[in-house]
Amino acid sequence: MTYVFPPVQQASLPIKGSDKLFPVHRIYCVGRNYDEHTREMGGDTKDPPFFFQKNADNVATNGKFPYPSQTKNVHFEVEMVVGLKSGGTNIKAEDALKHVFGYAVGIDMTRRDLQDAAKKLARPWEVAKAFEYSAPCTALVPADSIGHPKKGAIWLDVNGERRQTGDLSQMIWDVPSQIAFLSTLFELKAGDLIFSGTPSGVGAIKAGDRMKAHIDGVGDLEVAVV
Ligand code: MN
Repeated sequence: MTYVFPPVQQASLPIKGSDKLFPVHRIYCVGRNYDEHTREMGGDTKDPPFFFQKNADNVATNGKFPYPSQTKNVHFEVEMVVGLKSGGTNIKAEDALKHVFGYAVGIDMTRRDLQDAAKKLARPWEVAKAFEYSAPCTALVPADSIGHPKKGAIWLDVNGERRQTGDLSQMIWDVPSQIAFLSTLFELKAGDLIFSGTPSGVGAIKAGDRMKAHIDGVGDLEVAVV
């Protein structure tokens, strides 16, 4: 059997030091996973983790973020991205890191005005989170070469000015806990990405701005808003 029309191209991320691509299956995102950001968004740090998704083909590695439609308030959220090489259900936290292929620097771009409206009306978040180019990312850096980062600076500059700053050790739910929790809700698969939450300082960008995001040991991501 063949398809009635050609399927869209498989979404993928480059891999540092390799000519192979990482095929993206799903993108899961953790909400409110750093103390200070949780408080700036009016949440309680003792709540269990919650998740939303982006579309696989929202990843963008071309260094450009086209300012999206239907919004006047687009925010950056720098996040460490976890790429899985295998999956399963009911994964134990102590086994979780065996499933990790590597890590990237990503930005969870968010139409904050549409998200605020959705929250008020108890509506879903896709229009705020899962739009084209909403997941700028670096290449994945294999855990084989850098290990599993548990501490280290995570920051984001806009036009050379520091806007977000934090440390990976400030995550409320660490990466193994995120994988364990997610695997009770979904069947995780090779190719899944997890955006692991953002430190405080989120804010708006405008066309012409340049974002630079950094995570110690993982890398740097530069994105121009066009
Ligand atoms: Mn986020």
